[in-house]
Amino acid sequence: MTKHVRKPKLDNIEKNKTKTSWLTYIYVGNTDGVFSENIRRVFIINLFTSVGVLFTFPLGIESLIEGKVVLGAALILIAFLYATNHIYLRYTHNHALSGNFVIYPLYALMIYLVYTGGVKGTGHVWIFCIPAVSLFLHGMKRGLVELSFFTFALIITMFFTDSHFAEFGYDPVLKTRILFSFVVVVFLSGIYEYSMSRFNQELKETSAKLKLVAYIDALTELLNRRGMLQRLETSSYHNFHLLLADVDFFKRINDGYGHDAGDYALSQLAKIIQMSIPEGGLASRWGGEEFLIAVCDCSESEAFALAESIRKDVENYEFEYLDQKFRMTLSFGMATMNESTSLREAITLADSRLYGAKRAGRNRTRKN
Ligand code: GH3
Ligand code: MG
Ligand code: MG
Repeated sequence: MTKHVRKPKLDNIEKNKTKTSWLTYIYVGNTDGVFSENIRRVFIINLFTSVGVLFTFPLGIESLIEGKVVLGAALILIAFLYATNHIYLRYTHNHALSGNFVIYPLYALMIYLVYTGGVKGTGHVWIFCIPAVSLFLHGMKRGLVELSFFTFALIITMFFTDSHFAEFGYDPVLKTRILFSFVVVVFLSGIYEYSMSRFNQELKETSAKLKLVAYIDALTELLNRRGMLQRLETSSYHNFHLLLADVDFFKRINDGYGHDAGDYALSQLAKIIQMSIPEGGLASRWGGEEFLIAVCDCSESEAFALAESIRKDVENYEFEYLDQKFRMTLSFGMATMNESTSLREAITLADSRLYGAKRAGRNRTRKN
């Protein structure tokens, strides 16, 4: 039967391209590979600078046409600053400083708009975008401190300076109403930011817990196979000696003393192995009664000696579970991962050498 492969439509490809370039634009300056608070900040900075340029530039031109030279120049300067900020973020990834470039000129512009009345006395309507941006960029604590200072500056500007409110014929009550509604928006944005950061915090904690469960073996508390592979694949070292150990005749332990005794023996074994590992080494439960150890910064003969010492320690150890005493032995297969042997190849090699050790009579280490 021939498989019918549906061709992707051309306009779909174009749509995806547009989507990708838009996302690249909005997340530019981000260095994290995963979703984080930083990504959220970068996203908001880029979104805000874009919206900032789109709004402040035409408004600046409009003010200049209306003869408000200082206001017009200030708006155009801010549009320019925001555009530069986007480029700065793209090349430096410094979102902390970039966020300051966004918010501090914005505070100044808003106070200036309230003071002068902006275009036809509408300046104050823009202050309501401040709480969300401030809390988004600087978080709950610093955001609220800055908003308190801003509110204070607002009160001074509206009530204690010779601002231009009277000039536009506003009722004096309007000033109080503006102030109250601003505080309400601060309050609501604060609640939103608080719930969002709580939610993010819980998400982070849950994700850390899940990662632990995904990478750690519950019985032995060693790395599991997935965790070990992840650590080996992401390690800055490329030369590891791998020691693959398997308990000899473990079925007999289960059959003779019970499954719980088997479990207990495995957890004790993990402790012996963990205690023997030198600094920088890794130990994992690779499978049922198999353990993979990785050591670096040592010669092949030192790695062999380590396998032999663990093997002898286990051979001489008396396991005791509910008054039942028993002994166990280990077989080891050893291989080296380096420039010419990949991790997968080294594991396969260690596995076949372990098989060799089993066939040769068990309770031994094979390095070739
Ligand atoms: P060999 O020397 O050839 O390795 O013999 P063996 O009996 O150890 O080999 P086999 O692979 O046939 O048996 C391994 C046993 O390990 C079978 C399985 O029931 C047991 N096992 C695997 N995981 C666990 C575990 O988590 N707890 C317990 N108690 N037993 C386990
Ligand atoms: Mg076994
Ligand atoms: Mg086995």
